[in-house]
Amino acid sequence: MKLLDGKLIADQIKTEIAKEVREQFIDKGLEAPHLAAVLVGEDPASVTYVTAKEKACAEVGFISSVYRYPANISEDKLLEVIDFLNADPEIDGFIVQVPLPGHIDEQKIIARIDPRKDIDGFHPVNIGKMVLNQPCFVSATPMGIMTLLERYNIDVTGKNCVVLGRSHNVGTPVSILLSRKSKSGNGTVTLCHSHTVNIKSIASAADILVVAMGKLGFVTADMVKQGAVVIDVGIHRVPATDTKSGFRLKGDVKFDEVSRKCSYITPVPGGVGLMTIVSLLQNTLKAAKKEIR
Ligand code: NAP
Repeated sequence: MKLLDGKLIADQIKTEIAKEVREQFIDKGLEAPHLAAVLVGEDPASVTYVTAKEKACAEVGFISSVYRYPANISEDKLLEVIDFLNADPEIDGFIVQVPLPGHIDEQKIIARIDPRKDIDGFHPVNIGKMVLNQPCFVSATPMGIMTLLERYNIDVTGKNCVVLGRSHNVGTPVSILLSRKSKSGNGTVTLCHSHTVNIKSIASAADILVVAMGKLGFVTADMVKQGAVVIDVGIHRVPATDTKSGFRLKGDVKFDEVSRKCSYITPVPGGVGLMTIVSLLQNTLKAAKKEIR
């Protein structure tokens, strides 16, 4: 078994981005790419993600800014913030950290983002273009998964791919990317969800198994084919007495037993999570270079 090392690949990509920022922006007297984040409320997971994004921006030489608002901000006021960020020429791309408070229509907010600045790839225009295999911003987690497969030279062509979970931000886009007619795609994909019958037999036939369910330790060794590639997207904080933080991160896959059976596996932590952040940096660079129109 080999680890699909998200830290190693993310660090390589960050080094590549930092070089490009220096050579293509700073040395030419141009402003560095600028990523902005809108943070509504103080949900601890959202605060952690936004902080991690700021840190990653600093590592590659990007400018970053965070627009913080209280959880009771009105939908209209948030739409005004989006309009402001769309119009600000100094901001190349921005994200609105989700989930948003219940009184705000998330889809309405996302639809207001200029697709050319939608570095999360959540806007319907970018999702449509991804389906059509046109240049677009692909959302960060599915993009990070595809990058990991590419950088480890795992060929998807003709493979039996099974995706567990059909969320808009992970499962559904990754199923499209794996099946697209493209160099990194061409797989045969089955997308499973809570209504899927006999998920175990479907999963255990997979050459490539992507798990994005949000169910701690759901995938056990008997659900995995010998030699399969396993991508674990799940992130769970499990209480632990032997760590400083008082918790440990675990995934949707029972790593200890599954890792003995597969050819490649992503660890949690140190796998997909780090690739998600670096993909956002790659999208910001694309936005700054005006590659997506
Ligand atoms: P989500 O929106 O909650 O979607 C979960 C999906 O799993 C749904 O499609 C659901 O089916 C399916 N599902 C749940 N229980 C199931 C069961 N028993 N059998 C079959 N299907 C089942 O989750 P998400 O946003 O994709 O996130 C999934 C996990 O990934 C979470 O742990 C999250 O924290 C993590 N995550 C990690 C990253 C990262 O960067 N590493 C990024 C995003 C998310 P239905 O559609 O039928 O309800």
